[in-house]
Amino acid sequence: MKRALVYLGFVLLLGGLLLASCSENQMTDKKGNYDWAKKRAAMVQQLRVYGIEDERVLKAMNTVWRHKFIPEEYLGVVPPYGNHPCRIGYDQTISQPYIVAYMTKKLNIQTGEKVLEIGTGSGYQAAILAELGAEVYSIEIIPELANHARKALTIEGYEQVKVLTGDGYKGWPEHSPFDAIIVTCAPEDIPQALVNQLKEGGRMILPLGIYIQRLVILRKKSGRIEKVDDLRVRFVPMVR
Ligand code: SAH
Repeated sequence: MKRALVYLGFVLLLGGLLLASCSENQMTDKKGNYDWAKKRAAMVQQLRVYGIEDERVLKAMNTVWRHKFIPEEYLGVVPPYGNHPCRIGYDQTISQPYIVAYMTKKLNIQTGEKVLEIGTGSGYQAAILAELGAEVYSIEIIPELANHARKALTIEGYEQVKVLTGDGYKGWPEHSPFDAIIVTCAPEDIPQALVNQLKEGGRMILPLGIYIQRLVILRKKSGRIEKVDDLRVRFVPMVR
């Protein structure tokens, strides 16, 4: 009888452990953090509701750990997966997920394309581009943010992204021409150096203006630039 009870106890314990590990697997992502994975899924769901239908972009947004790109001291300020910008220090922010997804979708990035980003900030947008298979070059003018982004990108497995501390107005001529350019700070006028570094057939998206800003999408065709105005937006200024 005593033996049977011990046996039963053992079976129950084993069953309990098995159940616990199964339910944990269902709720956790690969590093065992179930909460963030759920929040990411909710963010992607919200992006769908807002009309982002590009499955590749949605998959990238679901894969990249946005909370790992927000410096720790700002992580508690607002929820990292909410649809709002997040502070990253030095008076800068990562754009809200909708804008990141929208701009990325508009560029229609293909695997192996060379993409230049101006305004690395946290490194989050660069990681999304890398997740889509792009060869990413990113320029950040604030050295501390460039360092933070390099570190976060490496920790999160995007060490192939090249980050330059420098002035985005000059672009990165050594690596030009680019298939696509994304500018995540707002200049007053379209920087000519960036247009020059765009490949024939290349696309560029940028917020333009000081107080009233609009996203502008450019395409280089037969050496000429086609320009389409898009959404009204609010970005930090592209400084000189
Ligand atoms: N894409 C970023 C967010 C960018 S915020 C992310 O995913 O986190 C805009 C960034 O542009 C800021 O970090 C700001 O320092 C940078 N910036 C402003 N003017 C710049 C310039 N002339 N050259 C390069 N970066 C610039």
